[in-house]
Amino acid sequence: MSRFLKEAFKTLSCYVPGEQFQDRKFIKLNTNESPYPPSPLVAARASEAAEGLQLYSDPESAALRKAIAGLHHVKAENVIVSNGSDEVLNFAFLAFGDASHPFVFADITYGFYKVLCDVNDIPYVIVPLREDFTVCAEDYPDSGHIVLANPNAPTGIPMPAEEVEKIVLSNPDRVVIVDEAYADFSEGNCLPLALKYDNVLIVRTFSKSRSMAGARLGYALGNEKLIGDLKLVKDSIDPYNVNLMTSAAGIAAIEENGYYMENCQRIVRTRLETVKKLESLGFTVLPSGANFVFARHSKIGGEELYRTLKEKGVLIRHFSTGRIRDFNRITIGSEEQMDCFFRILGECLKN
Ligand SMILES: *Cc1c(COP(=O)(O)O)cnc(C)c1O
Repeated sequence: MSRFLKEAFKTLSCYVPGEQFQDRKFIKLNTNESPYPPSPLVAARASEAAEGLQLYSDPESAALRKAIAGLHHVKAENVIVSNGSDEVLNFAFLAFGDASHPFVFADITYGFYKVLCDVNDIPYVIVPLREDFTVCAEDYPDSGHIVLANPNAPTGIPMPAEEVEKIVLSNPDRVVIVDEAYADFSEGNCLPLALKYDNVLIVRTFSKSRSMAGARLGYALGNEKLIGDLKLVKDSIDPYNVNLMTSAAGIAAIEENGYYMENCQRIVRTRLETVKKLESLGFTVLPSGANFVFARHSKIGGEELYRTLKEKGVLIRHFSTGRIRDFNRITIGSEEQMDCFFRILGECLKN
């Protein structure tokens, strides 16, 4: 820390991402990336786009927004794109939060929400999940703008759109952000709510279901006035936020939608198999609508299992906080990766 860092940031605790080792070969089931590569068209278009890098990217990202709008049957005015969905979340927190407009989120959810409040000096209210880790809609009275991850992370539990709608209806003067990073692995989603109500913002990402975590591409969908507010923030802090290569890659990924949706189905099938196998090995697994499962073993603590697996070359994600310390979050890999995972897990459980 230099002597120039401002006072407010001296105690800032930043978001801690899952480990990304660049050197050692691990079976990587810790950051919810896709085990499948992007479609060949994505790399081809990105490299074509790279030939024009001397020019700035389109600050409107018009072609990309049009493609996303087409995918979801909305208008381009209902779409804003960003450098990863974390960036569009930041735009929303900046646009809507201040000292008298706190954000409300669950005690167990995506860790970035608290960080965004801290860094932007926005107060927050934490609402505990129920004992079974589900969200209780009645626990969200009118006390601030709301952000829900749905399916939630790291639990994986999906919340039915009717439940989310209850929250929207009891908070007509608040913005309700539904972070749907994992919606492509789930049965339903809340996009219809964003078209029906003027206070619902849906956030999506190309990182998980579209094999583009390294390209950084996210977006939000909502009423055009809400999107306009986010655009105001975007144009004030990062007008060329989506680079030429990522933009071309994103358009290609939408053209190849079938390929990605097939991969998602394959991941869901592997998830169902994984749950069965984990349960037969003595794990309790929370219901998942995502590309990961959250599981606790009856005998081995979460931290111990995480460490033992890491020594044997398998990375999963452990959070040492409160009532989830005995759980681990396990990303669903390819069939081969999961076979390997279960072989090594078997060894761990024998000792
Ligand atoms: C992974 C994730 C994100 C961030 O995705 P990026 O688009 O890679 O920034 C946002 N929200 C949740 C709940 C996530 O799990």
